[in-house]
Amino acid sequence: MRRWMIAGNWKMHNTINDAIALAKAIKEGTQGVTGGEIILAPPFTALQSVYETIKGSHISLAAQNMFYEDKGAFTGEVAPSMLKDIGCTYAIIGHSERRKYFHETDDTVNLKTRKSIVAGIKPIVCVGETEDEREKGVTEFVVGIQVKKALYGIDKIDDIVIAYEPVWAIGTGKNATPIEAEEVHRFIRNIVGDIYGDVCKNTKILYGGSVTPDNISELIGMEDIDGALVGGASLKSEGFIGIIRKTSEKK
Ligand code: PEP
Repeated sequence: MRRWMIAGNWKMHNTINDAIALAKAIKEGTQGVTGGEIILAPPFTALQSVYETIKGSHISLAAQNMFYEDKGAFTGEVAPSMLKDIGCTYAIIGHSERRKYFHETDDTVNLKTRKSIVAGIKPIVCVGETEDEREKGVTEFVVGIQVKKALYGIDKIDDIVIAYEPVWAIGTGKNATPIEAEEVHRFIRNIVGDIYGDVCKNTKILYGGSVTPDNISELIGMEDIDGALVGGASLKSEGFIGIIRKTSEKK
């Protein structure tokens, strides 16, 4: 059975003190919540402080990005071994904002995904269509290519989480209806099933895009939606705790 997962992507928000306060509030507000996994992805500068705050608790740490080499002359990049060193269990890979503003491609997403597995960092691989692609009716075509390319050359799916995040729903307040989201989640699960067989039943597929405490219950009620990658609503403890509690009640 798949356990639920809720991950908070803080993007480029929070100083160290803000990050510690938010992580502490989330830790306290989710005591006793069981059956799933809670992940916080602060900016690089706050990883260590958040790690110290959540160490030994029920919450895991993620980076928002990583590079695909171990070391070298790559100014500004961070290696997966460095993330492990600082206490990260996960790394978000190929978020649509990285694809849009930092020119990440399906090829770099694949390199990063492969590297993360070797380095012992579990990847949360983001895929999703733009509004234009959805309107043109090519959502499955686009998402299918993104998923297959991300997984190219990887033998085992076990530690990989996929996040379906329609680009038009990220930070916009619009979100896919539960049925629209479920259709794409099922499509992704079938692709993963074609590559890896029955083990794909254990693969977690998260939905992302303007998730709030008001819409999580319906989304999480869908069979192939195992949790959420949450941006804006993860920046306020009450909202994020609400999303977690509602998920744990429903799944
Ligand atoms: C995200 O950043 O992955 C995201 C889904 O953002 P938001 O929840 O703000 O749409």
